Amino acid sequence: MSLNLTTYEDLLSAITVDDGQAVHDPATGEFIGNTKMSTTDDVDAAVARAREAQQSWGALPDAERSQYLHKAADAVKESAEALAHILAREVGKPLNGPNARFEAGACEAWLRANADFEIQEEVLVEDDSGKAILSYVPIGVVGAIGPWNWPMMISIWQLAPSLRMGNTVVMKPSEHTPLSVQALVAVLNRVLPEHVLQVVPGAGDIGQAVSEHPDIDKIMFTGSTKTGQAIMRSAAADMKRVTLELGGNDAGIVLDDINVDEMAQDIFWGAFINTGQTCAALKRLYVPAAIYDELVEALAKIASETPMGQGVSEENVLGPLQNEAQRKIVADLVEEARKAGANIVTGGNPDDDQPGYFYPATIVSDIDQHNPLVQIEQFGPALPIIKYDDLDQAIEWANELDVGLGSSVWSSDEQRAREVANRLIAGTTWINKHGAVDPRVPFGGVKKSGMGLEFGVEGLKQVALPKVTAL
Ligand code: NDP
Repeated sequence: MSLNLTTYEDLLSAITVDDGQAVHDPATGEFIGNTKMSTTDDVDAAVARAREAQQSWGALPDAERSQYLHKAADAVKESAEALAHILAREVGKPLNGPNARFEAGACEAWLRANADFEIQEEVLVEDDSGKAILSYVPIGVVGAIGPWNWPMMISIWQLAPSLRMGNTVVMKPSEHTPLSVQALVAVLNRVLPEHVLQVVPGAGDIGQAVSEHPDIDKIMFTGSTKTGQAIMRSAAADMKRVTLELGGNDAGIVLDDINVDEMAQDIFWGAFINTGQTCAALKRLYVPAAIYDELVEALAKIASETPMGQGVSEENVLGPLQNEAQRKIVADLVEEARKAGANIVTGGNPDDDQPGYFYPATIVSDIDQHNPLVQIEQFGPALPIIKYDDLDQAIEWANELDVGLGSSVWSSDEQRAREVANRLIAGTTWINKHGAVDPRVPFGGVKKSGMGLEFGVEGLKQVALPKVTAL
């Protein structure tokens, strides 16, 4: 049977099995389909096929691999609506807003960008002593282990540069979102050569099998710091290369010169993109006393008016948490904040009779820097807003934690904002926006937020081996 995979029904039937693990919609609990669960034998077989396929894939001229990525982008474009519906059902993210359709569109954009980057040989020395050239060659087989929050987009971040540089890829999706990644891989495999891209759905043990596999040469990982540390330990045995994009707890510092009405929407979406389940979302906001009440009130108004509900309903732009464990983390942190005397300005009272893993968009004010809701990554729709009198103190608080993925400064004076940005310890500091990643711009964390860079030419270099030729 040949399916063109451009409808939700076709795509779902191509990736679900009769016997497997049931997957449910986090908004309703409704059954979606059964996913295959891989064994470690399946991992071995996939890696063996990937290693063989790499011989011919890695030998193709770079321009041909680039064309394949454009064809893959065309396939994603044709299936974009079907892919978005899979995301809306499995992750729960709404079709509209910076959510499911946005994610499917980002997959196409990242494929095209990775197809078009130019990676040139560099002549490092050329004089009487001789010549030295730096070039980049494939690593081999890449194991890509991903999370549940942006399952398709993050898979593309991992697989697009890897394929472009002549590697083959074995993907291990989160057990919470196996269908999204299998759907994406099915669409891409309409145009890619056989076994260049494979997926092994399964739980953490399958991720461990991938990260320990002696025939995998590089791990691309996005997820928690704890799992990132386990992967580094597993990778050490074979000296596998690793790129780790781990959790953050991004700070945003507002300066006292902003126009609250103009900036409140952008601050809100910096924090509540994908209902707060985003590694580089704004997770703690520092606001000067002079405009504190005004900004708290503006954010609370937006939070209470923004429609939240089932992913597949067109009117919603906020959805449920993807899983029960994450909902509990958010609920417990907000409850602890309330008990410590913080003010729950809006939200914070989940309706326990409502089906699904919903938690209302929550704004918490009058909260102390050392409260757990500030110190621990909530990864959900609850924003703590901390008042400051002294900008130096706010910068110190922002830098105090052991993570550093993103950060932001909000000001109508670019020069002032850049001076503060220079003092923030994070892989990226945005000014007057937060979490706005771009396929052309390198992205990665410092401290326990990760290792290595993704995106742009720097991202290509991370999935290749540097090779020096000296004459
Ligand atoms: P994890 O780090 O546990 O999971 C990420 C991926 O790693 C999943 O595919 C997981 O499989 C896999 N995995 C689990 N154990 C191992 C192992 N020993 N070796 C190799 N792979 C493994 O993240 P969670 O999904 O549990 O989320 C926990 C927290 O991480 C969140 O609360 C959030 O704070 C943060 N997070 C950060 C993300 C980011 O984008 N930076 C994304 C998601 C979460 P499986 O899920 O099947 O067990």
